[in-house]
Amino acid sequence: MRWLFLVAVFFIVGGSLRAEDTAAVKLADGFQCPVGTDGKSYYKARGMQPNGHLGEDWNGSAGGDTDLGAPVTATAHGLVLFARDFHLGWGNVIIVRHAYMEGAQVAYVDSLYGHLDQILVREGEQVARGQKIGTIGNNHGMYPAHLHFEMRKNLRIGMARSAFPRDYSCYWDPTQFVAAHARLEGGGRLAAVPINTFVAYNGPADLESATAQSGFRSPLTPPGTNPNAQPSATSRTKLRPFKVDPYEDMRNFGY
Ligand SMILES: [Zn+2]
Repeated sequence: MRWLFLVAVFFIVGGSLRAEDTAAVKLADGFQCPVGTDGKSYYKARGMQPNGHLGEDWNGSAGGDTDLGAPVTATAHGLVLFARDFHLGWGNVIIVRHAYMEGAQVAYVDSLYGHLDQILVREGEQVARGQKIGTIGNNHGMYPAHLHFEMRKNLRIGMARSAFPRDYSCYWDPTQFVAAHARLEGGGRLAAVPINTFVAYNGPADLESATAQSGFRSPLTPPGTNPNAQPSATSRTKLRPFKVDPYEDMRNFGY
């Protein structure tokens, strides 16, 4: 039964993607701001700047480290693809992959949460919109506490930002994206999403494979096609081992 499903997914996505490189994820029912569920006030201290700051910095209105430890929540339903301490300018980082309906098509986007104090999810875990996935941090004391939040169109970036264009061809303006996708049709239905797409950037040779393509289109995966694929809070998708060199990103400020 399981292999039948995997074969079906393989052909559905056009044969260009290996069957083991997809996972079933609940379609987003909407996107929301990743801070503020604690009822406190937050403001955008720094916005998206192409070729500069590739996301947004969210700060507690009381300033300084007053937001240290405050909840960071998933912007939408999705699958955790990265949840590690990346050190350097990043600190603790979570990347979540989302599927959502854009008109009649399934589209994909990655959300990134940086400088976290705590990581409360693991790679391969399904998360729901508004679920607490971490807490606001200061990257081991490097910055005043704030959340660095990115929305990526390009599913290959992962932690290798320097391998890709640093502009709107690869990134969304997070506030604009969330506002334009606050309520979505099809939420909760299952879709196949690509996994294991991040570039394993260990040096210039890897740039060859880092073509800036942003994912693929696939139809919906009917719920119940494969009981094993039903996302649940306890099941984890097995991801292929993924290794990158943190020092690659040192020359790229804009955290
Ligand atoms: Zn930032």
